[in-house]
Amino acid sequence: MPGFELFGDAERNEVQDVLNSGVLMRYGFEGLRQGHWKAKDLETAIEKRFQIKHAQLVSSGTAAVSMALAASGVGAGDEVIMPCFTFVASFEAILMMGATPVVVDIDDSLTLDIEAVKAAITPKTKAIMPVHMCGSMANLEALKSICKDNALLLIEDACQAIGGTYKGQALGTIGDLGCFSFDFVKTVTCGEGGVVITNNTKYAQHLDHYSDHGHDHIGQDRGAEAHPFLGYNFRISELNAAVGLAQFRRIDEFLSLQKKHYEILRNALEPLDGVRFRTVPKGGVESYAFLNFFLEDLETARAVIKAFGDNGIDVCFHYFDNNWHYIRKWGHLKAKKSLYPLSPSIQAGLKLLKTKDFSKSDHFIGRNISCLIKLSWSEALVKQRAKTMADCIRKVCSSI
Ligand SMILES: *Cc1c(COP(=O)(O)O)cnc(C)c1O
Repeated sequence: MPGFELFGDAERNEVQDVLNSGVLMRYGFEGLRQGHWKAKDLETAIEKRFQIKHAQLVSSGTAAVSMALAASGVGAGDEVIMPCFTFVASFEAILMMGATPVVVDIDDSLTLDIEAVKAAITPKTKAIMPVHMCGSMANLEALKSICKDNALLLIEDACQAIGGTYKGQALGTIGDLGCFSFDFVKTVTCGEGGVVITNNTKYAQHLDHYSDHGHDHIGQDRGAEAHPFLGYNFRISELNAAVGLAQFRRIDEFLSLQKKHYEILRNALEPLDGVRFRTVPKGGVESYAFLNFFLEDLETARAVIKAFGDNGIDVCFHYFDNNWHYIRKWGHLKAKKSLYPLSPSIQAGLKLLKTKDFSKSDHFIGRNISCLIKLSWSEALVKQRAKTMADCIRKVCSSI
């Protein structure tokens, strides 16, 4: 996944270009910048590649999710349904807007369980936020229809699945708004950065103004601009955008490497008894950022991840026990460890979370192993890894 593995002259030249003009800010300074607009150019490239009307670059993927909520009017008293398997940014972004995260089960797609989503809808629900974890998507057709029936927003967190598609459409472009992260370990990186994409012109205007203190960006005198509503600073710098611009031009090269490496690994594991792959919703094509599979039970998954480690197979994750991506490790959220007072509605929501049953998700996450697909691996190395992984699984399964 990480695009930084393949940094080269293209990235260096774009950054040098910004340093030469001396304008590190994305707005204004028309005279000085000699026609160099890295953030703008990257937005245009994203709009073109994903066939979407508007792209708003921001300072991070987490900022992108917060901004998507703000731009579509989600705030205090509103509930946002999100999965229990996701990066912590999901609930951070919801809390930042004063809304309440409603955390629900996932299924064997490793994304939102549709029945759990339906059961979680209340009169306060404002949005559903599927997170396309580890390169593959939620059942977007089912979610779209739930959103339509209940007048809810659909906000896609596609931070880990850039380049994946669903029924021929790019992930991130299917909901009312979509978010990508360009942080240091994502398929395309700016170092730090993110983007919100939408076809809704009103939301696009909100994003443009909100991410820059509410500036309306009319005219060429920043000091004289109007502020139609309150905003914040979620701007990306030109230096970060320059890296992203060079990286984004290489997205197809990166995606084809991910696919090639994924297929070698998958083909090696496919014939093994006791290995089952995640369900990809009908019509979905993964971004191939990760290879995800299930073993028979928790004990086997623990033994396999240990065998991988002992045999030099890195970048594979058993999220049940390690990392921050599963509800079991969100003690700080359940204990409401906030530096500042939380609203009564958020407190009530988090109290419910403390005792909520996630055994259905435990069943899937407990048996799941997710292996990151690197871009810099040579074909020989991927083949060697595939063989070692298959050997480890065979050995563990025959001894349990
Ligand atoms: C990386 C990531 C984010 C946040 O992105 P940052 O740019 O690191 O803030 C949000 N959601 C998911 C699923 C991610 O993987």
